Amino acid sequence: MLIPTAIVRKVNMTQLASITNNHFSFECCCGQTSLVPVTAFIQKFELEATVDEVVAKARCSKCRLKNMAESRIVFVGGSGEAMPNTATKQASLPSD
Ligand SMILES: [Zn+2]
Repeated sequence: MLIPTAIVRKVNMTQLASITNNHFSFECCCGQTSLVPVTAFIQKFELEATVDEVVAKARCSKCRLKNMAESRIVFVGGSGEAMPNTATKQASLPSD
């Protein structure tokens, strides 16, 4: 039995802003699976939305139910796609 690395089964307060390179993988009770980029949820909600909130609001595109059997955060894409974006836009306070 495979054990996914990041099953969202409990409260996950990770903010979408920190996982923009990832996707949500949903598996519905009806068997429908979907892979949705985190950026799509950021457009719907906001950067401060948490994984927990998104999972709670996610709706199956087939049966329209919110009852997802499984939700995962997955990383899709090669290493070449990783942006060298380590310098975040933190406010630079003039210290002196
Ligand atoms: Zn469904």
